[in-house]
Amino acid sequence: PPVSGATLAVEDVSKAFGGNQALKGVTLHARPGRVTALIGPNGSGKTTLLNMVCGFYRTDAGTISVGRRQIHGLAPHEVARAGVARTFQTPNIPEGITVLEAVISGRYTAHRASILSAVFRGPRFRRVRREDRLEAERVLALAGMTGLRDVEAASLPLGMRRLLEVVRALIGGGGVLLLDEAASGLDEDEIERLAGLIRRIRDAGGTVVLVEHNFRLVLDLADDIVVLAHGQVMASGPPEVIENDPRVASEYLGI
Ligand code: ADP
Repeated sequence: PPVSGATLAVEDVSKAFGGNQALKGVTLHARPGRVTALIGPNGSGKTTLLNMVCGFYRTDAGTISVGRRQIHGLAPHEVARAGVARTFQTPNIPEGITVLEAVISGRYTAHRASILSAVFRGPRFRRVRREDRLEAERVLALAGMTGLRDVEAASLPLGMRRLLEVVRALIGGGGVLLLDEAASGLDEDEIERLAGLIRRIRDAGGTVVLVEHNFRLVLDLADDIVVLAHGQVMASGPPEVIENDPRVASEYLGI
């Protein structure tokens, strides 16, 4: 199967920027076959946490692991190789390549993608490994995008580009998928397609972490919700508990 995950464990992680304590002793576990949503108001530390998991920032304290492997302190490409893939708020799809080529290039880390897009334009694309193509076809089918494989990727509407970002992350990753505001700017239909894809990834055993502002989507998709406020975990639990927690209502929804 294209996805099967390991537990992502964040234990007692702290991070300060100068005097600004962005994260204070954050602990959370995202498990395979579950969607874990990370929510909280602006400035609560969600992006910082994603950046720490991905190896963009060093932790001041605490540990981060995927399965039995400790990943804190690793460089981003090493974290990617350890099985953690991520999408960004702004889709980053190279121009001049097809959807299928974009998926195959997703196998490589983000900073190499620009080099690869040049490679793909030439005759060498024909030498892409057969297994890579088959895997790309499989993940495209998972997203219901098989019919778009030969379309120019950058010309797709935003919703499709976001789905494509998820698919690219999937093929490059090892089962832990971090989605940063994947639904922002999408219309209802596009959100439903994205939600369907996320459910299929979860059901294939993927470990999905969702940073998301759309609270309705979070309640609809998440198996576990972690609420950050002022760099700390304020509440965590299943949607039906979080939805009825008055502290979450006042802190997160502002009511
Ligand atoms: P969220 O994603 O929940 O909106 P962030 O993780 O972006 O929150 O921000 C948490 C805190 O860390 C904020 O006070 C923010 O200003 C600070 N912060 C985040 N990244 C940096 C950085 N690179 N340099 C300095 N401060 C930062």
